[in-house]
Amino acid sequence: MSNIINCAFCNGKGQDPFNLLSPLSECIVCSGTGKIELLKPLKKCVFCSGTGKNPLGARIPCIVCGGKGSIHCESQTKCTQCNGTGKSGSGLPCSFCGGIGLK
Ligand SMILES: [Zn+2]
Ligand SMILES: [Zn+2]
Ligand SMILES: [Zn+2]
Repeated sequence: MSNIINCAFCNGKGQDPFNLLSPLSECIVCSGTGKIELLKPLKKCVFCSGTGKNPLGARIPCIVCGGKGSIHCESQTKCTQCNGTGKSGSGLPCSFCGGIGLK
């Protein structure tokens, strides 16, 4: 079972949201299609709050979800290490759950 969702990194537009000099360049996350295919069940990526952007500020896709804004995760159990935030104290992804906030 898979799910087709809008690419979070480019908001489904298929263009690289940060490449201002070349507005026609393709989004590196969805290869320009604006759509992403993910297996169910889907969870919103807590590390980037579903935006697909790297919360550390770099103009690159979120390192946890790869820019998709959602992740495939079977677990329902909150990660006790980061209390479900997906972040460690330094702002990097929680090393216990890999930044998804579930374990
Ligand atoms: Zn995209
Ligand atoms: Zn993310
Ligand atoms: Zn964690």
